[in-house]
Amino acid sequence: MKSSPHRHTSAYVDLDAIRNNINKFRNHIGEQAEIWGVVKANAYGHGAVRVSKAVSDLVGGFCVSNLDEAIELRNNLVTKPILVLSGIVPEAESIAIATSFNITLTAPSLYWLKLLVQQAVDCSTLKIHIAVDSGMGRIGVCDVHEANEMIELADKSGIEVEGIFTHFATADEADDTKFKSQQERFSALIEGLSHRPRYVHSTNTASALWHTSQVQDIERLGVSMYGLNPSGKVLDLPFEIEPALSLVSELTHVKKVPKGETLGYGATYETKEETWIGTIPIGYADGWIRQMQGFNVLVDGKFCEIVGRVSMDQMMIKLDQNHPLGTKVTLIGQDQENEITATDVADWRGTINYEVLCLLSDRIVRTYK
Ligand SMILES: *Cc1c(COP(=O)(O)O)cnc(C)c1O
Repeated sequence: MKSSPHRHTSAYVDLDAIRNNINKFRNHIGEQAEIWGVVKANAYGHGAVRVSKAVSDLVGGFCVSNLDEAIELRNNLVTKPILVLSGIVPEAESIAIATSFNITLTAPSLYWLKLLVQQAVDCSTLKIHIAVDSGMGRIGVCDVHEANEMIELADKSGIEVEGIFTHFATADEADDTKFKSQQERFSALIEGLSHRPRYVHSTNTASALWHTSQVQDIERLGVSMYGLNPSGKVLDLPFEIEPALSLVSELTHVKKVPKGETLGYGATYETKEETWIGTIPIGYADGWIRQMQGFNVLVDGKFCEIVGRVSMDQMMIKLDQNHPLGTKVTLIGQDQENEITATDVADWRGTINYEVLCLLSDRIVRTYK
């Protein structure tokens, strides 16, 4: 979608806040492990290139979800190691891209590695991290023999097994039964390896915050770098972090509506009295989805209800009084005394703060502080 800078619906991203959050995380985990910044999905909506460049000196590398995200970073002169976390089909073209851009791939099975070495392309400078499925059920090997066969095959083919990692399914929950079982399976597998790769890693934000006992060479830091609690409001953070993104729009139309008029598609809202109604240029095509009807925004520091269905490009809010066109409307962030967080939005929608930020579409301009 086309970025629309003339519309004044903008996501303000505070790069210093992201740096501060990484530094606080560093204090929490100590000096031992490298921190790799997870900047997949356009850095959770914050802008992968800008974020990566801003934090490059604080991290050992970056994690992305696919080759194109990695290429974008390389083309913008990000030189730190980049690991593609998701599985990809090992075609010759992908392998050639990975080796020429120095992008590390995740190897999810022996079958995958066998396919890879059969491709008509030189893979002798390729680096891989083996994924271990310790109970997430997404990608990876479950069996130490399979992992060892992968190490052997990689050795024969000149591929460097630089790392091995797993991913936890419940690190953000209070009940740690499943977490412990995953941890035990991963540790057992690591102990059975014929040779320990340079990087053994398992932690996302939540496991690093609330589970300290694992040996880590890399901490894969995602959501907390952007200032959000991975558990939403379930578990308390051991230190304060600052949300880096705020979402702001403006009033483009204000009118007094008589009692008994309906607003928006489906006529789902009816005014109970004479009401000041404002219109804002943001809608579900921006990722501000229809479920937001009934939630609030902030105008002049006061909560204002979203009334009527959110349409594709615009939505209406109930105002306490007339306001001039161009008046700032805060959808995520602080305005005077009050604040709306991505987690508040997520709770309203019955989802997680990650999803709220990732859904913000490219039409919303990112502005950097
Ligand atoms: C997305 C992702 C992370 C980062 O998770 P956060 O909860 O945002 O810290 C880490 N590891 C893997 C494998 C991921 O897919």
